[in-house]
Amino acid sequence: MGFVQRTRACGELRAAHAGQQVSLNGWAHKVRDLGGVVFIDLRDRTGLVQLTLDPANLPNLNNLRSETCLSITGEVRVRAEETKNPKMATGDVEIIVTSYSILGPSKPLPFPISDEDQMSSVNEELRIKHRYLDLRRPVMYRRMAVRAAALRRIRAGLDKQGFLEVETPIITKSTPEGARDYLVPYRLEPGLWYALPQSPQQYKQLLMVAGIERYYQIAKCFRDESSRADRQPEFTQLDLEMSFVTQEDILKVAEGLMIEVINGLIDEFDLDKDKVEPFERITYDEAMYFYGCDKPDLRFGLRLFDLTQAVAGTEFGVFKSTIESGGVIRGVRYPGGAKLSRKEVGIVEEFCKELGAKGMASIAVETPAADAAADAFVSTKGLTVRGGIAKFFTHAELEAILATAEAEAGDLLCFIADNYAASNSVLYRLRLEIGNRCELRNPRSLKYCWVLDFPLVEWDADSGTWSPSHHPFTMPKEEDLIYLDTDPGRIRADCYDMVVNGMECASGSIRIHRSDIQSRIFTLLGIDEKTQQERFGHILEAFAYGAPPHGGIAPGIDRLVMSLTDTDNIREVIAFPKTGSGYDPMMDAPSTIDAQQWAELGLRLSK
Ligand code: ASP
Repeated sequence: MGFVQRTRACGELRAAHAGQQVSLNGWAHKVRDLGGVVFIDLRDRTGLVQLTLDPANLPNLNNLRSETCLSITGEVRVRAEETKNPKMATGDVEIIVTSYSILGPSKPLPFPISDEDQMSSVNEELRIKHRYLDLRRPVMYRRMAVRAAALRRIRAGLDKQGFLEVETPIITKSTPEGARDYLVPYRLEPGLWYALPQSPQQYKQLLMVAGIERYYQIAKCFRDESSRADRQPEFTQLDLEMSFVTQEDILKVAEGLMIEVINGLIDEFDLDKDKVEPFERITYDEAMYFYGCDKPDLRFGLRLFDLTQAVAGTEFGVFKSTIESGGVIRGVRYPGGAKLSRKEVGIVEEFCKELGAKGMASIAVETPAADAAADAFVSTKGLTVRGGIAKFFTHAELEAILATAEAEAGDLLCFIADNYAASNSVLYRLRLEIGNRCELRNPRSLKYCWVLDFPLVEWDADSGTWSPSHHPFTMPKEEDLIYLDTDPGRIRADCYDMVVNGMECASGSIRIHRSDIQSRIFTLLGIDEKTQQERFGHILEAFAYGAPPHGGIAPGIDRLVMSLTDTDNIREVIAFPKTGSGYDPMMDAPSTIDAQQWAELGLRLSK
């Protein structure tokens, strides 16, 4: 028998099809040879169904290794009650195979793709090397399907609102987003280079000058930066831009679209997620103050607190000297942490030290013991304290500490004394760690928020220059322009990040659309006029021809799919990713080029 085209899909077969003759095409997911009978779970993109094959009637069944590509014909039967498999959508039926043909034989597999438990220990590079096999796993197919559906819903949503999808060049000129460029040599004039875009930022702004008004693109972005679990050399953004808008308009469009897309996907794929609610909004300053970072995980509370006022007059040496030198005393509650042993508290302190803290002080909060001394400290809320640095404070100070921390019985209050930025960077991580330890996150929850009013620039101590918090095209808030020459660090921008579950998932801004302001910002960033003309002359010139006010945003598609499919590894949601070091073991890329290509490009490797 040769190739017989399918009449049905594997995953759709049910008891209602009993008695029907069907032809199926797919792969042998699992093969169980019991001697007298061979069972195969046949898989196609819709799911699995059990085949039953009788070696007495069918030849060469011992050639049927896992992942052989098959075409079969047979009859749908309802399984005997005790052999039904309620875990399988098609578990009520089996196919009694009358003929089959091997469309593509399979070698022994490099990893057991039908066994999800074993797959978790398979080396990731091996999976990427054989990605065409890895993608056969139903979990991987599902991730690709969620991704495709996300793009379909995004396109439909934006189409409804009059957006135009426009493709912009991949081979182009450097457009800075804070990473290194990938460069492509120009063969016709050795010494000249294209750069792959870090984002379509400048093109989309030029499209606004061009009168497109509402643009989007599912855009590949290329950034040569050190790898992390949530980064890849190339990744995908929903890049969008609008003219004649305020920040509020963009937030509304982006938030509305995300809610519509995500909640639609939750229904379509029956995802284990709660529907997304309208986004909370917090300013950059609030985010830093309450969460120690600009991407707060709002799935749980535990806001950081600041004790600097409460203990302003303390005689406790470490706190006193920190405050005198302009530092702060900040901290976080560890619910249930009061019961940790001294050794366990030491481990928490070690965690902080590894993050750069000089130390971590703590106080355990409890309800008073029945036999407590008459003069023991009891707060107005009926709490007392124990251990750590409790003994160094007066009753009034302890009262103020408990009130500021909003302490509850059972808490361990953890304190970091340092400058504001350093204490934040430790407490940000410590808060997340406490969230892990106390299992405070609901895995169903997708907590989106907007972080608003970012500073325009940050001081880069290494290079001794101001660098943009986002990119150099961001519009300063009009009322803050007065600080441009005197105190640039104080300028806030019309700039916003979208954050989900502690992960930045989009950033955007209102853009500068005036050449004079753009040029002043370049100058602030240390780009002299000659360099401005060389690198950005096109955009400065374009702004001189009736540029409209405009702004936009670019949500990451990979991160969106990650948050919906419960993975924190970006490679799991990309069909053909690179390894952590930027290598593609399947294609063996990057790879060498031949001598003629070197010569044509006018290149030579320097020793
Ligand atoms: N181009 C920015 C980025 O890639 C997004 C934007 O400002 O629209 O993050």
